[in-house]
Amino acid sequence: MSDGRRGALDFPVLRSQRPSGAEVFQTTLRNRIGCAGVGLHSGQQVRFTVYPAEAGSGIVFRRVDLRETDGLSAQDICVQARYDNISSTQLGSTLSNAAGVSVATVEHLMSAFSGCGIDNALVDLDGPELPVLDGSAAPFVMLLECAGIVRLSERRQYIRILETVRVEEDGKQASLSVYDGCALDFEIDFPGTVIGRQSYSFEAAPGSFKSEIASSRTFGFLHEVEHLKSLGLARGGTLQNAIVLDGDQILNDGGLRFPDEFVRHKILDAIGDLYLAGAPIMGRFEGVRAGHGLNNKLLQALFNKPQAWEYCEGPMGAPRQAPVVALPKVRRAARG
Ligand SMILES: [Zn+2]
Repeated sequence: MSDGRRGALDFPVLRSQRPSGAEVFQTTLRNRIGCAGVGLHSGQQVRFTVYPAEAGSGIVFRRVDLRETDGLSAQDICVQARYDNISSTQLGSTLSNAAGVSVATVEHLMSAFSGCGIDNALVDLDGPELPVLDGSAAPFVMLLECAGIVRLSERRQYIRILETVRVEEDGKQASLSVYDGCALDFEIDFPGTVIGRQSYSFEAAPGSFKSEIASSRTFGFLHEVEHLKSLGLARGGTLQNAIVLDGDQILNDGGLRFPDEFVRHKILDAIGDLYLAGAPIMGRFEGVRAGHGLNNKLLQALFNKPQAWEYCEGPMGAPRQAPVVALPKVRRAARG
């Protein structure tokens, strides 16, 4: 799981999970780590490996299965995790680059990167879609924590919200407003189902993503799953990687992980979608029945309104911690 080439004292390891609003310096992984699983929509087995990356590189996906493809350069198989690379939000969030290379279902891993406070990483995968694993972000968080998280010497930039930005569509709403920290409020309403009306307020604090949000699973209704399968989609969907509902029945044997697991998962998705801003957001997100599409429109609206935000270095009043040691540059990925 780890290449173990560096000694334990080479990097100052962040021993606890930090809220994205509390860290002054950029971070990356201490070691590479990976696993394999089935893609929710393709049903294909996909292997992925997450590598440390240099400060300022952000999160980059690389389709190593396309390495030998004629006409594609080493750069062409890389896709930066940014809101303006989103090509589809129909069934999860899909990123694509100018060469037409895409990576689907990135939102739960992006949420884990955000929740663990990881700024820079390279993610190799050998298929078109990240594995769904158990339908939540918890297995990704476990992997990232096993790899270890290290602080780099470059300062982190935040996106500070300066005035409210709101988008609405078909009775759905999403907004970002001024807040000294990072908070998300979400409300969903599925009348006549076991979900009903649920709301949840999440405040980023040490450990809060892992304990409140990370393990909540994606969900769907049986008739929708059957319809998707008839179209050749959701091929990997099982009761092992999603909550499946049939009217007021939950079909999964173990039931729910939280009574309000559904709305918590919507917050998990929103955290992943908002991390495509390219930096942690200092502000308050509010979502009412919003999904991946509206979350992406919210980021587009934000970046189309320059007076609504600014880059800043660290939250106001946060302690300015110096790195423990002067750091060497983090090595590039071992392969390619
Ligand atoms: Zn999701």
